Amino acid sequence: MNTAELRVDLERLRSNVRAVRARMAPAEVLVVIKDDAYAQGVQRIVEASLDAGARWFGGIDVPSALRAKAVSGDRARVVAWMTVTEAEAEAALRGGLELGVGDAGYLERVRQSAAKVGVVARVHLKIDTGLHRNGVRPEDWDAFCARAAQLEREGSIVVVGIWSHIAEASDEEDDISRAAFDRAVAAARGEGLSPEVRHLAASAAAWHRPEFRGDLVRIGAFCYGIRSADGPEISGIAPVSSLVARVVAIEGGEARIGIGSVDGLPSTLAGRVHVGTPGGRRELRHVNPFESVVEAWDGAQCGDEVVLFGPGEHGEPTPTDLGEAIGTVGEEPLLRVSPLVPRVSL
Ligand SMILES: *Cc1c(COP(=O)(O)O)cnc(C)c1O
Repeated sequence: MNTAELRVDLERLRSNVRAVRARMAPAEVLVVIKDDAYAQGVQRIVEASLDAGARWFGGIDVPSALRAKAVSGDRARVVAWMTVTEAEAEAALRGGLELGVGDAGYLERVRQSAAKVGVVARVHLKIDTGLHRNGVRPEDWDAFCARAAQLEREGSIVVVGIWSHIAEASDEEDDISRAAFDRAVAAARGEGLSPEVRHLAASAAAWHRPEFRGDLVRIGAFCYGIRSADGPEISGIAPVSSLVARVVAIEGGEARIGIGSVDGLPSTLAGRVHVGTPGGRRELRHVNPFESVVEAWDGAQCGDEVVLFGPGEHGEPTPTDLGEAIGTVGEEPLLRVSPLVPRVSL
């Protein structure tokens, strides 16, 4: 019997977003809402973030960004940064999105889409500062900016931002990326562009290194209380979502709970983590397709709640603790939760 539920604590989200905004000020915070706000539901996440003062949202995929824009209307600017087809770019522009543009061919397609829709496309030009994950290479950058400036003059686009994404693997590499970014911004200005916002950093670099903040920071993980894998706890933020399931049977010193690998619980967690129960931390012993098995506790009963991940109030691991147990990041246990598992706002 499936008893799983993903509880999304919106008061905690608001408090995380406030803490992130306070830390980043005067830089603005773009709350990252890709993949349906990391599978937590764009609508509730955007509404609560607006309450906490967020005025920018963004994501990789157009569908999540379009939903964010539909919820926020004129209260926020929303950016979608994946290179997409013309049809999708048209839908994005029609829906009022700004677009991240990281290659010359895409810039031309965005121009055409803007003409078709009858709007001026607001774009954020992306320089590749070493991560090689989309972005215009430094040797092609000046020509790219010159073309963008030409399209601005003809009235089909306006360059509102210059951005990049850094690896956050080592301070040295990030410093090299930042220097490349500063050169790219200077070159863009030299070509006649005047971007309003420069943005380079995601959660970890923006949190720990003020010199990376620029005008805007793009924060996903820390807004949702997910610390970096192998990184320190971040004071003032805590996980927003908890994955909970109920006990469906007790036998032989073990409790069976109504969540399994089909619900998105990674089967590789079996034997590697302790989860939160009414009797404290207990070993997660098996993860089967439809049910999982946890070491029992005194007085265990059917209907008791077991917390697979959450902020830790019941002894449960955080999403990042789970990720680390199976060699991945904290976003992954959250993203894997099946869309069929009910989301409940707290
Ligand atoms: C997902 C993403 C982010 C958010 O990164 P966090 O480390 O979770 O804050 C920032 N920028 C880009 C381009 C992304 O795709």
